[in-house]
Order: sequence, then structure tokens, then C-alpha cells
Amino acid sequence: MKNALLPFSCRVCGQFFHYYETNQGAPDYASAPGGLEALFTCLMAQHLCPVCARQFTAAEPPICTRCGLIFKSRQGEDHLCGDCLESEKPYGMARAAGVHDQSLMTIMHAYKYDGKVQLGGPLSKLLTAVYERHWRPGSIDLVVPVPLYPARLRKRGFNQAYLLVRSWGDVVKRDILQRTRRTAPQTGLGRKERLKNVKGAFSVKAPAAVKNRHILLVDDVYTTGATVRECARILKRCNAAQVDILTVGRAVT
Ligand SMILES: [Zn+2]
Ligand SMILES: [Zn+2]
Repeated sequence: MKNALLPFSCRVCGQFFHYYETNQGAPDYASAPGGLEALFTCLMAQHLCPVCARQFTAAEPPICTRCGLIFKSRQGEDHLCGDCLESEKPYGMARAAGVHDQSLMTIMHAYKYDGKVQLGGPLSKLLTAVYERHWRPGSIDLVVPVPLYPARLRKRGFNQAYLLVRSWGDVVKRDILQRTRRTAPQTGLGRKERLKNVKGAFSVKAPAAVKNRHILLVDDVYTTGATVRECARILKRCNAAQVDILTVGRAVT
């Protein structure tokens, strides 16, 4: 039974489209034949037209076992990428939902800057599915959203990374990390400038709470990884057992 509702306007292309409500709801990720892409289409059914929904590319294997880089070649097993073979990372593994391409970028932008916080619900469900896929239940002690600088948080009114995991309960801690200085937006900066921009921009507020803990850092997007690497580095310095990373988007560089 399908019910045609009022036309919705697509968050990416602006086109109006008809949304048909079905009784099926979102598929169970583990058993859904279409995997993450099918889940994304279902979750975004009220927000994206069918054409834009199909643009989403899930971060499916083969990916880098360490940094989660999605390899261009769609053949073969997961393995370490060239960069991870050459340089140590301060985190155990980084995983994401999908490629941070133009359409996901537009969705994240609408969510963060245009007050389309209703996108937080579907994005959060997507992230939960990715989390369940890569981490065993109970293996993570603390979930830490990457903090905003207080003035920016006041201006925006919410921390987009925190909203994505808020429903996970007590394991989510907002008072572990703090951003101690205002940083320029990373957008438009090169790899080296990004690292420099965030260097020393965070501090661990509660060092005793991270000792020997397996921490999952959550952010909206992994571009060069400069921000999450800096956060992971200072958490490790406070003797965190392991720091892993989870983001919605993963840039393919
Ligand atoms: Zn569209
Ligand atoms: Zn890698």
C-alpha cells in the first residue's frame, strides 16, 4: 500500500519529488541485500529525490584497513594504502559511511549550516549501521564527538558530531575534549595547512577518564584526517588504549 504525500523538495538539487510512504520502513542493515546504499535511500526518502539518493556511494571494500581510504579499484581485498604503509597514524582504524562527494557534501552543508537539523536523524541511523558493522558490541568504552570552539557552538546552536551519536546514550562523552582556540575553516586548505591549522587546537579536559580506554572519535567528515589525527594524538598522549574514528563522509584523495 503506497500513499502519495505532498511533494517534497530535494535537499541536493532542489527539485520537487513525490514521496511514497511504504509500510516497510528502513531495512535492517545486516540483512538488506543492497547494504548501506539501500539503507541510505530509505533513510533519505523524504529528503532527497530518487536521482540524488542514488548518487550516494557507500564506503564498501576494498578500503584501507587503517585509514579507511576507499580504493578507486573496486576489486580485491582490504589492504593498507600507500600513505599508511609509509606513515604511522595515531589511531587504530578510521571508518565512514560513504564517499564525501558533491551530493553528500551538499547534505552535510544543509545539515550544518542551513538549519536542516532534521537530516540529523537519518544521518545518525546511517552512522549507527556503520558502527555496528565495524565494531563489536561493547568494544568501545567512550564515544567522543569532535568539539567545536565554544563561540562557534553558541553561534550554530548545536555540535553536528554530537547530534549524530546523541542517541547512543551514556557512552557518549562531550566533556573529554575541548577546542582551546578558534581555527580557520579547513575547507580550501591543503594537507599541510590543515595539519598546521589544528595543531594544538584541542586539549584533553579529563585525562584520567581516557586512560586505558578504547575511544571512538566521531566527526562529520574525514577529509585529510588532520582534525581527528590531532584529537587522537592528544588522547593517546593521555594513555588512551586505542582511538578509532567514525565519520559520515570520507574524501577520496
Ligand atoms: Zn535531487
Ligand atoms: Zn590508509
